[in-house]
Amino acid sequence: MLKVNEIFHSIQGESSHAGRPCVFVRLTGCNLRCTYCDTEYAFYEGEDMAEDEILEQVAAFKTPLVEVTGGEPLMQAGVIPLMARLLADGYEVMLETGGSLPVSDVPAEVFKIVDFKTPSSGMEKHNLWSILDDLAGHDEIKFVIGDRADFDWATAQVRQRGLTQRHTVLFSPTFGDLDPQELAGWILAAALPVRLQLQLHKIIWDPSLRGV
Ligand code: SF4
Repeated sequence: MLKVNEIFHSIQGESSHAGRPCVFVRLTGCNLRCTYCDTEYAFYEGEDMAEDEILEQVAAFKTPLVEVTGGEPLMQAGVIPLMARLLADGYEVMLETGGSLPVSDVPAEVFKIVDFKTPSSGMEKHNLWSILDDLAGHDEIKFVIGDRADFDWATAQVRQRGLTQRHTVLFSPTFGDLDPQELAGWILAAALPVRLQLQLHKIIWDPSLRGV
């Protein structure tokens, strides 16, 4: 059984898969409390669902890409067999995780998006950098950038840890707080080989809407 906040069909708004139709399985619960969190409703709300029930709802959307997200999906042990089952059923599986819990049990075929926490999140001390040892080349690293201090900090992480040598690195402005134009200018001026990421779903639809 897994506690599920919502299952919905939308356009993937983030990562290198942005723009693709995708089914989202949002699990309940998070061990972090980021200042800019846009899914606080997933901290506690949800219903217990059996794996078969989740698979059935996912299948109804007839879409080959599935993202498991949260909250922090790795808080529930049942997420590992769920992802294995989705892969076995032929889905491309993505996992969005907050960078504070180990990913060593996640099947290697899963595309992991690891959202290491920048200082403005207030959660930076929870970053578990040893996760980097368990990532494959197809996995991506994301930094949500709220201000210039976050940008400088994330740039230092990228350079010191050589992150772009092995992974696509995404810099995403905190929605409504940092102007994407400003972040674009900083990236260009630093000649940093990262990818500017805008949250596509918040541009297409009302950013306050759930389930899109
Ligand atoms: S890790 Fe994600 S869900 Fe958890 S508090 Fe931070 S932004 Fe919200």
